Amino acid sequence: RKKCIRISTGSKQLDAALNGGFQTMSINEVYGEFRCGKTQLAHTMAVITQLPREMGGAEGKVAYIDTEGTFRPERIMEIAERFGVDPDQACENIAYARAQNTEMQAELLDGLAANFATNEYRLLVIDSVMSLYRTDYSGRGELSERQQVLGQFLRRATQMAEEFNLVVLMTNQVMSDPGASALFAGADGRKPAGGHILAHASTTRLLLRKGRGEERVAKIVDSPDCPEREATYIITTGGITD
Ligand code: ADP
Ligand code: MG
Repeated sequence: RKKCIRISTGSKQLDAALNGGFQTMSINEVYGEFRCGKTQLAHTMAVITQLPREMGGAEGKVAYIDTEGTFRPERIMEIAERFGVDPDQACENIAYARAQNTEMQAELLDGLAANFATNEYRLLVIDSVMSLYRTDYSGRGELSERQQVLGQFLRRATQMAEEFNLVVLMTNQVMSDPGASALFAGADGRKPAGGHILAHASTTRLLLRKGRGEERVAKIVDSPDCPEREATYIITTGGITD
């Protein structure tokens, strides 16, 4: 039986709120407004995953599906320096792919099975999970078809998380559409995209928001083993930290 591992987020406070970090064999969804740090968290975890266990890592490689074109190798290198690891090596351990549409997003996921079969990978990032579904299926009448295709994608991701002992980290947008799922609404009434299908696929959901000054706040909204609680973090050159 595979042993589940917890990987640090870079913030001790946030790790504590998550009982030690994000767990392998699970789908973790991080959602919130533009610029609250979703992509920065993905970059930070892409480095930390490679670190030894005693540093919060999993000695693992990383697969990164980028749907918005916001992956920056320079950020990986800066974050690598914070942890004292070779910046070029840190980049080499990340299998990066840019998805241009939902079909490609699903194909890239399938294609990663060969990478994951090496048992070297511990993190799969999808930044962001819903953006291409929202553009490819933007018509009102296309919502049920979208949810069906999305469901297939999420089932595959869930299966891979379990089979290959991965943390799946999905970022997601918030929307103010009043017709959207009423589940997990933030204090401001905003909800993550993806409706019930995504809500049920996510093992743990984190709502990110801007706090005072440079501070950001993460709220655990849905977790099987953590109470609903908040943690603050900041974004630095070295990535997410306290
Ligand atoms: P999201 O993906 O949630 O839209 P990002 O993860 O892109 O947001 O976070 C954007 C924020 O990260 C911005 O506020 C920006 O100032 C901050 N940021 C990006 N790079 C750095 C850096 N090198 N040092 C400090 N803050 C940074
Ligand atoms: Mg982003």
